[in-house]
Amino acid sequence: MVGLLACSASACGPATSIPDAAKPEPEPAKPEPAKPEPATSDLALDRRVAQLEAEYGDRGWVVLAERPFVVIGDGHPQRVESHARGTVRWAVEKLEAAYFELPPLELITIWLFETAASYEQNVREIFDDEPDTPYGYYSAKHRALVMNIGTGGGTLVHEIVHPYMEANFPACPSWFNEGLASLYEQSAERGGAIVGLTNWRLAGLQAALVAKQVPSFRELCESGEGFYTADPGSNYAQARYLCYWLQEQGLLRRYFAEFRAHASQDPSGYATLEALVGGDMIDFRSRWESFVLGLSYP
Ligand SMILES: [Zn+2]
Repeated sequence: MVGLLACSASACGPATSIPDAAKPEPEPAKPEPAKPEPATSDLALDRRVAQLEAEYGDRGWVVLAERPFVVIGDGHPQRVESHARGTVRWAVEKLEAAYFELPPLELITIWLFETAASYEQNVREIFDDEPDTPYGYYSAKHRALVMNIGTGGGTLVHEIVHPYMEANFPACPSWFNEGLASLYEQSAERGGAIVGLTNWRLAGLQAALVAKQVPSFRELCESGEGFYTADPGSNYAQARYLCYWLQEQGLLRRYFAEFRAHASQDPSGYATLEALVGGDMIDFRSRWESFVLGLSYP
């Protein structure tokens, strides 16, 4: 047996002692570089709650921390609380479990306005925006999800996806960002996991398919910002029901993971989709169209 000496001070220290004067000055202890405080820490949430209470409390608005968001609403306190502890908490828990390891990069405030009138007025007054949707929107600039919550919680879940996507898949193209967000506009739980259900976007997509007006999946995936600016009217629905098809085949989470992992080689996600559906996109397209035309809502 080979005896190995444990490295103790006596075994590894200097053989001869150095006179004190020749000893190097001990390094001054460097302070640990201060770690930036996460934007969504409990402390940051509490500070934001206090700030919003000071600013809007006299209007009777309710402010709550609901990790990783702060929620403020002009509705009855119980209603605001039930949106925060219900819809927001549920969506956060289920979306994190399915896709997202990281919280949003910024502390985002969710503004819940109870009526179309208060939504429109406050969008103008607080954010100096012109609402281009009656339901609600995400403003990265204002770190805000602004909702007309009177129209239901679907848009809220849709908009919650966007800041998560920004943090977890910053290279995600618009078509998939909106497709996944739209999928959860109408959502439920299956086996403890979030699932999208058919919704109001179906009828328009079915009509556009019958009229042969829906672009190819290559065009959709490669649309870039044209997803918004050159939308033939079916982009959101096509992206949503592609995600829905993937979900129903048990492939959606795998697609998300593979797309994200290979986004530098396949930034549109088209090649990843092609590989996942078996390589024959003509055959896939016809299977997908039959599937969508066979769906119903409600
Ligand atoms: Zn969206």
